[in-house]
Amino acid sequence: MAGTAYVPAMTTTDPITIARDLIRCPSVTPVEGGALAYLADLLGRAGFAVHRVTFSEPGTPDVENLYARIGSGAPHLMFAGHTDVVPPGDDTAWRHPPFSGEVVDGVLYGRGAVDMKGGIACAVAATLDHLAARQGKAKGSISFLITGDEESVAVNGTVKLLRWAAEHGERFDHCILAEPSNVDMLGDMIKIGRRGSLNGTLIVTGKPAHVAYPHRGENPIRGLVQILSALMAEPLDRGSANFQPSNLEFTSVDVGNRTVNVIPGEARARFNIRFNDCHTQASLRELVGKRAAAAAGNVRHTIVWEDSNADVFVTAPGPFTDTVADGIAEVTGRRPELSTSGGTSDARFIKDYCPVVEFGLVGQTMHQVDENVPVADLTMLTAVYRNILGRYFAP
Ligand SMILES: [Zn+2]
Repeated sequence: MAGTAYVPAMTTTDPITIARDLIRCPSVTPVEGGALAYLADLLGRAGFAVHRVTFSEPGTPDVENLYARIGSGAPHLMFAGHTDVVPPGDDTAWRHPPFSGEVVDGVLYGRGAVDMKGGIACAVAATLDHLAARQGKAKGSISFLITGDEESVAVNGTVKLLRWAAEHGERFDHCILAEPSNVDMLGDMIKIGRRGSLNGTLIVTGKPAHVAYPHRGENPIRGLVQILSALMAEPLDRGSANFQPSNLEFTSVDVGNRTVNVIPGEARARFNIRFNDCHTQASLRELVGKRAAAAAGNVRHTIVWEDSNADVFVTAPGPFTDTVADGIAEVTGRRPELSTSGGTSDARFIKDYCPVVEFGLVGQTMHQVDENVPVADLTMLTAVYRNILGRYFAP
């Protein structure tokens, strides 16, 4: 069945051309590089009301963003994405220059090919084709919420653009984030949620002394190992309907003692927790704090938690995820797995405004040297989005 159900759509605008043109804009965060100007022009000519918005934050560079909408009615479907890319690293390591957008043997090369200029190009091409079939008019509304600040600190991007849009009266019914969601083949996975992420440091305080006289001191490494073992021993949960079990992973143990004959005064261990919807940040802090205290006995310890804007979320399977999955299945011949695996994305911010799913290209070469996408994938993803638009706005 795989590969046989695909029928190419008639496109008024070619996704390969759009993807190539976007790759030629060297938009390494926080530089705009011409990518948003290009989209503004393309969408503006198709009748979208286009807004370019720049956000600032002390200590970070200003970043440009774009919001474009066509139509005024409901339902309102938003495509979200980012035009910024990670640095290419050593240019000479690339087979084709990272911002050249060369097509060789049916493969488009360049930084951002899959993450995620390619995905944006497909969404734009599909939308323009969908509108052309309706004489340029939207039934309901379609918008593009595109940031230039995703790959780095992500403070002047989606989070502020969503707030800006809400303040300007924008309301969204659903969102498709065009991040590379597939593992091996186009159509194998939709992300319907993401785990939360929380960082902490366990600090154990002892009493320095000469190693020859340990009874005069108190070795914090002994206490650290005791608490660390306890925290690693017991799972945080057994997983939930849509999520794998939460996980606490120690990432560093630090004493920083350069001497060979002194018992140190303090020992630290850093850890990260990827958590599912059995927990909130507050409930996790409490649970880990209690377990540490129970294991500590009279070991003096504290846990310092870092602020996190990466909360867990899930878009419950239902009519919207069905529409997306059906569109994917009809075009690709594959029924996608609804997954919550992987790291965080801008969906963690979008979920506060409307249900969001992620579906885009295959992620295998993202952030790598020779990042690339088969032209056939760009054509097929465009057909998928086009199919989803047809279903979503069905009469
Ligand atoms: Zn991305």
